[in-house]
Amino acid sequence: MPKYIFVTGGVVSALGKGIAASAMGALLEAKGLRVTLQKLDPYINVDPGTLSPFEHGEVYVTDDGCETDLDLGHYERFTHVRTSVFNNFTTGKIYNNVITKERRGDYLGDTVQVVPHITDEIKKAIKAAATEEYDVAIVEIGGTVGDIESLPFLEAIRQFRYDVGRENVLYAHLTLVPYISAAGELKSKPTQHSVKELRAIGIQPDVLFCRADRALSADVKRKIALHCNLDPDAVIAAVDVETVYEVPLCFKSEGLDKLLDKKLSLDHLPEPKLSTWEEVASRIKEPKFEATIAIVGKYVGLKDAYKSLTEALIHGGIANNARVNLLWVDSEEIEAKGTENFLSEVDGILVPGGFGTRGIEGKIAAIRYAREKKIPYFGICLGMQTAVIEFSRNICKLSANSTEFNTSAKDPVIYLMEKWYNHRTGNIEERTQDSQMGGTMRLGAYPCVLRHGTRAHKAYGAEEISERHRHRYEFNNAYKDVLCENGLVVSGTSPDGELVEIVELIDHPWFVACQFHPEFKSKPIEPHPLFKGFIEASIKEKRSLFP
Ligand code: GLN
Repeated sequence: MPKYIFVTGGVVSALGKGIAASAMGALLEAKGLRVTLQKLDPYINVDPGTLSPFEHGEVYVTDDGCETDLDLGHYERFTHVRTSVFNNFTTGKIYNNVITKERRGDYLGDTVQVVPHITDEIKKAIKAAATEEYDVAIVEIGGTVGDIESLPFLEAIRQFRYDVGRENVLYAHLTLVPYISAAGELKSKPTQHSVKELRAIGIQPDVLFCRADRALSADVKRKIALHCNLDPDAVIAAVDVETVYEVPLCFKSEGLDKLLDKKLSLDHLPEPKLSTWEEVASRIKEPKFEATIAIVGKYVGLKDAYKSLTEALIHGGIANNARVNLLWVDSEEIEAKGTENFLSEVDGILVPGGFGTRGIEGKIAAIRYAREKKIPYFGICLGMQTAVIEFSRNICKLSANSTEFNTSAKDPVIYLMEKWYNHRTGNIEERTQDSQMGGTMRLGAYPCVLRHGTRAHKAYGAEEISERHRHRYEFNNAYKDVLCENGLVVSGTSPDGELVEIVELIDHPWFVACQFHPEFKSKPIEPHPLFKGFIEASIKEKRSLFP
């Protein structure tokens, strides 16, 4: 049976619980342990698939086609875990399960209540991810202690310790220790209040992670420990760092690995091997090269909306010993002011995934600029669809569009492939019953066969790959011949050749566009081949000037 580490947060949101949980996972893996991570989200949405990226940030997609919280992306980037439907539960999903059972009569006349029915369902969910193949399960509770919504989750994890034995459970709590400049001091009171709140629910934290903008002196640690009923060595400083990939190293230097050994009775474990993380951190902090990449999209400025993408670009930089500067360009601004104003000094252009008509023409203009000026271009999902539209319009002289933007387009080079439903399950009804909103999306991992000698084939160094999808529209095969005759190369398709997954251009330094989302599978210790290739080409074709 695995040991459990529950991670809660206090004082304010956005302190980085996901990073703290993931970095702890990396540290435990570096000691040879097998780790899984799970997120419990207190909101009522059954999954974040229906939430706006403006509201909630990126929707992260798992291999098995689940739309999940972006923290699962951190889990996969920091550790070897492959997340699935069991790694993210929301209040909505928990209640949905309980209400389905109630309607089915499973509770045999019981009055169905938060305790024990909801809390039991939460405990079942926790156990669903923490299978016997893992030594440690790290469970992150979304929100901040004191929120009304998170109470059932906190009650469930409180009970959990009695179910599986005290020695098998550890509670970690992340708080803020602000520096008040007028007083010239770090203040521990918010942390004390947050721990008090947690203890009122019946949870005494075993470890405190204290976010601060500077080091915590031994005195401050002692004070926090005294007021929060802890040993001073259980107060771990989580000081701001240049890159999140340094956090496992910081935790180690704060003695977290020894503390976890002691608290979870993980005896006789070796010292963590952190050389790969040291290498990652040093490549980010002392790069030899530099490249500026323009991301032409809709949610610019909202970096969480493209979390995996920005991380994958950093990983592409790690693979090339390069710093990657991101230039966020609003495609509607391009429509208003032209491409030259925004893109004349960038080394690479990327159009990421997206939905809806707004800003589409600006994206197409940016792609035309990349193609004509021979600037490395990387298109992802919508960025592939718009690349196909651009090529069809300006090279093949078609009146091309996607039916997502114009249902009566004369040349629907991107369209809704009704047949696709049969493709996956062999049965339209069965597929649409799966889920009501998501039923029309191609979600999760699909195999893709690469064509020999193409850029994609060289980058991956493989015949067949598997990548994750999240889209409704597809390349229209009726236009394949005319596009290919004019120079478009289809470098990746589904194994039966039906679905076009990657296109590229030959007479160009680097122009690759894929229907899937490669960013979901990139890691700092294993940068994704397409991001690696894109950044490599951007450095080679460098146009930007740096001091
Ligand atoms: N809107 C497009 C589609 O649904 C692209 C989606 C995406 O980029 N994730 O097919």
